[in-house]
Amino acid sequence: MSQKIRIAVQKSGRLQEQSVKLLKECGISFGNGSSKLKAEADNFPAEILFLRDDDIPQYIEDNVADIGIIGENVFIEKQKQNELVLRLGFAKCRLSIAVPKSEEYKSSDWLKGKKIATSYPIIVKNYLDQKNITAEIHEISGSVEIAPSIGLADAVCDIVSTGSTLLTNGLKEVDTVLKSEAVIIASNNLNSEKYALLQELVFRINAVNEAKSNKYLLLNAPNSSIEAITEVLPGMKSPTVMPLKEEGWSSLHSVVNENDFWNQISKLKELGAQGILVIPIEKMIL
Ligand code: ATP
Ligand code: ZN
Repeated sequence: MSQKIRIAVQKSGRLQEQSVKLLKECGISFGNGSSKLKAEADNFPAEILFLRDDDIPQYIEDNVADIGIIGENVFIEKQKQNELVLRLGFAKCRLSIAVPKSEEYKSSDWLKGKKIATSYPIIVKNYLDQKNITAEIHEISGSVEIAPSIGLADAVCDIVSTGSTLLTNGLKEVDTVLKSEAVIIASNNLNSEKYALLQELVFRINAVNEAKSNKYLLLNAPNSSIEAITEVLPGMKSPTVMPLKEEGWSSLHSVVNENDFWNQISKLKELGAQGILVIPIEKMIL
């Protein structure tokens, strides 16, 4: 009997929606009633397990799940027998040291002998060890940012994305300890069949993510500009050029990267391009 890969995703929280969306964009369809603990995929040999994100590394180590989607911060903190397979580009955040606004913090030496509240004791310990700082780590599981105001700690090490939560709690961010994003982690002892399924999934995720950062571009241009326009548009190979019915004009098709997109559009207009259409790409296989 052929095997199924068991994919663990967060049951509810910041990673949940995008994890499920990514799997669906990879063509894996399943019902996701959030009350359920697991769902069977209809068209891919996979079973989706909905778990607390913090528990996923342990479940993978225990071979209850084969792979999972979690924050890199949790992957590093848990120190389980898991491998980081792929960074996914969403749930970007950082783990930072923050201290009360009124403090004059010049360097990490300020932390010497202080009490730091965090949900990430291992990561904080590594950070302090690297800097040769001795400080007390106080582990708390939630609402870390209120610890200084209630006298529980002098500083915190917590997840930050915009910093607004820190500000409303009278704290300022003073140092970044770790940058994080959602990642795929996997058991380091997958059998060959499951390993092949993981590779197939990674291939699909890359195709989906590549497509998201590129656009399909169509434009009309006078034949005299085709050379110059081709220079601006590297495309996947070279652009497709097709004659228009109107004498002396062609239609050009190419793929452009989102990052240099606006820059390219203005150059194309200068070179006489007209009727520019930009179309999202669903999947892109390089
Ligand atoms: P709980 O386990 O109680 O649901 P949690 O903090 O572990 O709480 P979430 O808040 O859903 O769970 O966060 C899950 C992951 O999302 C974090 O481990 C981190 O990688 C990422 N994350 C957390 N906060 C942010 C944020 N503000 N912006 C972007 N990503 C974040
Ligand atoms: Zn959690």
